[in-house]
Amino acid sequence: MLVSAMTDRLYYSDSFLYNFDAEVRDVLESPRPALILDRTAFYPTSGGQIHDTGWLSLADGDAAGASPKLHVTEVADTEDGRIVHYLEAPIKDIRPGARIHGEIDAAHRRDHMQQHSAQHVLSAAFVRLFNMPTVSFHMGDDYCSIDLDTATLTKEQVEAAEKLANEVMIDNRPVDVHYVTRDEAAGLGLRKLPPAERDQLRLIDVRDFDLTACGGTHVTQTGQIGGILLRKFEKVRQGYRVEFVAGQRAVVTARRDYATLTETASLFSAHIYDVPQQVGKALEEIRALRKQLEQSQEELADSQASSLLAETPEANGRKLITEIFADRDLNLIKLLAQKITRQSPNAVALLATTHPQVALVFAQSAGQAHDMGALMKEVLSKLGGRGGGSKDLAQGGAPSAQGLEAALAGAAETLNR
Ligand SMILES: [Zn+2]
Repeated sequence: MLVSAMTDRLYYSDSFLYNFDAEVRDVLESPRPALILDRTAFYPTSGGQIHDTGWLSLADGDAAGASPKLHVTEVADTEDGRIVHYLEAPIKDIRPGARIHGEIDAAHRRDHMQQHSAQHVLSAAFVRLFNMPTVSFHMGDDYCSIDLDTATLTKEQVEAAEKLANEVMIDNRPVDVHYVTRDEAAGLGLRKLPPAERDQLRLIDVRDFDLTACGGTHVTQTGQIGGILLRKFEKVRQGYRVEFVAGQRAVVTARRDYATLTETASLFSAHIYDVPQQVGKALEEIRALRKQLEQSQEELADSQASSLLAETPEANGRKLITEIFADRDLNLIKLLAQKITRQSPNAVALLATTHPQVALVFAQSAGQAHDMGALMKEVLSKLGGRGGGSKDLAQGGAPSAQGLEAALAGAAETLNR
């Protein structure tokens, strides 16, 4: 039996290698179809950087002609140093020893290199400016983030780090890869030392700016990152999380922000820079109008309660007002019910509305002998609704207005018994 050899990682020496040839070492069928090769340019998920995607095909085709491209959807490390290429579809006619051609999705790889290299530069900027070490890095589909070990972080500090990182990109500094032993590394002042697993370390050297150990794929000149845009920053358990986008992602994000802002500005017929002021003004107006509305509703309910009480004759020692409205909501009929029962010492109001939902409010003046909560439950059981309340005030809702009029008439009947 053959001892499994580690996969030769071509991306270690050339992160711009998008095409390569290799030999199949192992064909896996479960849990998912996958291939293990003797060498690969595919980067497996690790160190916060997402795996590559791309295609594998038989190098020479087969007897029937060109070989179909197999889509590589995920790439992962095994514990013994091999790289597994997970494929979208089951594998046919590929056996160990077959010659394979691999093709990396270059657009994705470039994006990953930009985000990941930007992270090195940004993390170094936070250390150089404010002595804030990065404790973790996350690469997402939309944005990336680093977690900084710091108790405080200000907007000014975020902007300063962003500025320095962009200056390093504009400098177009070389990004070199060196291999050293752990002992040699000890004296080099690395930003971050990996856990003591390996004896040889791969160092990523952003000239005269950052030196750190990393196994990922990086640009060869900082100018290839393009630029970096810092976004949200927020307190997290261990410190502060800073979100960022680099390269084309920064442009795409800035474009989307601009489109959103432009759309908002056009709603106010304003310049984009005046949007905060315009929104503030609009909110103030809304608050003032809401206050006015509440006051008008109070006044309306007050006068409507007076006229309803005036036109309702007293019977059996009380004034019973039954009304169904189609143009006021629950809050308004509740307000009306309260006004009626406060203006009169012996009133009972059985009110309902059909708009926007069917709702009912029953109320009686303090000291009256009925139980509005119990009456409400009785009515709602006929209507298939839910609700309840106290002896003097109850409310509820029903699924439809069907039977509402009869139910209210029935409730009025009950009170007259
Ligand atoms: Zn790296």
